[in-house]
Amino acid sequence: MAIALRALGRTPEARVEWALKFRLLDLSKLSERARHRAWAMLVAWERGRPAEGPRPARDKVPEAQQALRQVIEALANGLPDVVWMPETTWSIWPARRRRPGARRGGRVTMTTDHTSPGGIPVTPEAIVVAFVNDLNAVEADRLRACPLKTNGTTCGAIFLAARRQIYCTARHAQAAAWLRYQPKRKEKRP
Ligand SMILES: [Zn+2]
Repeated sequence: MAIALRALGRTPEARVEWALKFRLLDLSKLSERARHRAWAMLVAWERGRPAEGPRPARDKVPEAQQALRQVIEALANGLPDVVWMPETTWSIWPARRRRPGARRGGRVTMTTDHTSPGGIPVTPEAIVVAFVNDLNAVEADRLRACPLKTNGTTCGAIFLAARRQIYCTARHAQAAAWLRYQPKRKEKRP
C-alpha cells in the first residue's frame, strides 16, 4: 500500500513536524508521484521557493532523509551532529519585498549553483541547515526524546514538546507518574 505524504507546511513548526514524520517513512513504499512530491518539497525547503524542472534519477531524497534522521536523533538526545559540506558554490538571493499588509517578509534564500538538464537533486546538508533554522524558530529545546524507562529500556520516542511536556504521550506521562508513586507506596508498607 502506498503511504500518504503530507505537505511540508508553511510555518517552521509545521516543517519541523513534517521532518519528524518524514524521517521514519519507508521510501520504498512511496508511489512514483509521492516520491516526486517528496523531492519537490525538499528542494523547495532548501531553496525557499518552489522546485522546478524534472526530478533527476539520483534525486538524493534517501540521503536527505538519512541526514535529517541523524540530526533529529542527535539533537533530541542532546548530542551534536556534523555535516560536511563539500566545496559548493552558493547563490544568495535577497528576500522578496513584503506585500502591503503582509505580516511576514520573505527570506533570504541560498541555492547551490549547479544546473543540470537532468534536474536538480536535493542537497542533504542544506536540508539539515533548513531544519535547524526552522527548529530555532520554534525553540530548539522543544525537540525531545521521551525519557520513560520501563524494565531497563528507554522509550526514546522523539517529539516536538508542548510547553511543559516531558514524555512523548499522555500514556507515558501517566506511566512515569505511576513509577514515581510506586516506591513511595512500598516504603509506607509496614
Ligand atoms: Zn514515550
